[in-house]
Amino acid sequence: MTNRLKILNLWVDPVNMVESLFYIIHTVEKGHKPHSIFAVNPEKNFSVPKDPLLYEIFKTSDLLIPDGIGIVLAAWVLYGLRLCRVPGVELMKNICRLSAQKKYKLFIYGGEEGVNKMAVEVLQKRHPGIVIAGRANGYVDDAKMDDLIDKINAAHTEILFLALGSPKQEKWFAQHKDRLETVRICQGIGGTLDTIAGKVKRAPKMWQACYTEWLYRLISEPKRIKRQKVLPLFALMLISAKLQSIGSFQRR
Ligand code: UDP
Repeated sequence: MTNRLKILNLWVDPVNMVESLFYIIHTVEKGHKPHSIFAVNPEKNFSVPKDPLLYEIFKTSDLLIPDGIGIVLAAWVLYGLRLCRVPGVELMKNICRLSAQKKYKLFIYGGEEGVNKMAVEVLQKRHPGIVIAGRANGYVDDAKMDDLIDKINAAHTEILFLALGSPKQEKWFAQHKDRLETVRICQGIGGTLDTIAGKVKRAPKMWQACYTEWLYRLISEPKRIKRQKVLPLFALMLISAKLQSIGSFQRR
């Protein structure tokens, strides 16, 4: 991706939903290897750089989508750019809609067994014609990983959804991508299957429209405070980076 933006310690690609979908169509139809799509949010700005392997995985990822409002605001503060949000959950939904039309073969890997099975059923109902060529829950033993990869390849999977949570899904991709023969797009979707299967409720539309989905999630799952407590620090770092850039501009 060109024009990748550095947001404090991480990067993001300034793409909107339509551009992301065109990228996916182009990659599925013309690509020769698996391309990764991962979501970027303020929490990852702190967790990713702590792990050199993960940092490298993000740095070399093919598409880093501006998943949350925090990253959109950061791009505006740092670069004056108005990015559009590309929430991973919405991108997955649109990929499913697109794939039902184009007959792309999908594989859904991750989540608990019941959640994975239910999510596949829901997607088949929501998107008539969708080709879900295979599925597997996210608790496959390492000893059985070769079998899973054989299954993904035998299904001629073109788009693989990885629902293992972050950073497990990103590391899985890095470790196994070279053995994925037919996969062209691999999107890390975290806990999205839990919402599709109805195990976790997504924020009502009103909350989404007010960009407070993160707050709704925090209220419904208070244990997420551990991850979200870094948000005020992210805001402070952003202000400090902006002040430094103004200072160095004035000194010139
Ligand atoms: N999960 C999995 N295998 C694992 C660990 C987690 O499939 O070994 C699944 C888990 O069932 C849940 C998802 O990964 O559906 C993690 O959801 P979370 O909301 O924590 O992920 P995030 O979107 O925050 O990355």
